[in-house]
Amino acid sequence: MTSSLVDLYREISLCRDCELAEGRNKVVPGDGAENAKIMFIGEAPGFHEDQQGRPFVGSAGHFLDELLNSIGLDRRKVYICNVVKCRPPGNRDPLPKEIDACRKWLDRQIEIISPKIIVTLGRHSMAKFFHGSSISKIHGTSQEIDGRVCFAMYHPAAALHQQSLRKTIEADILKLPGILAQSEDVKQPDPEPKQLSMF
Ligand code: URA
Repeated sequence: MTSSLVDLYREISLCRDCELAEGRNKVVPGDGAENAKIMFIGEAPGFHEDQQGRPFVGSAGHFLDELLNSIGLDRRKVYICNVVKCRPPGNRDPLPKEIDACRKWLDRQIEIISPKIIVTLGRHSMAKFFHGSSISKIHGTSQEIDGRVCFAMYHPAAALHQQSLRKTIEADILKLPGILAQSEDVKQPDPEPKQLSMF
């Protein structure tokens, strides 16, 4: 891992900017390749993530791994993190003030990784990019936001609580390879128009 992420992880591990720091066992900054083209953003660490310091290692994580495998992706090739980096007590939803306190870390991760595609997993990460949208309406769709393609998905844990969503989530992720291919087709404009020489 190169130094920018290591330095950032060190800073995050010292963070005490909200009350979640009091109850954490381990900070869960994120996991994956610094040059990843796709970044997955979940909600918050759960019990297993808090024990191990890695995102999506519990049952929702196993389903995420299956989803990645279904499109030929390995989790080491993508980047995975959460909106908040410490476990909320009892796995409750993160509070707005906790999301606000953690925003700077997620913003720096996006800046360092600079992914072509951001996949939002669930309502809380969706809300950062797709303002005022509802997950039931926009899941499986993408939009260019601030120069990146953002793709909205249900949280993998939703399939564990509601079986009927499993097929929806499995179908949505199948759109990702096409979106990636499209994003790679977009040619960067020349920085300066070429001058035609007469000689
Ligand atoms: N759910 C999340 O949103 N993130 C994790 O890391 C694990 C479960």
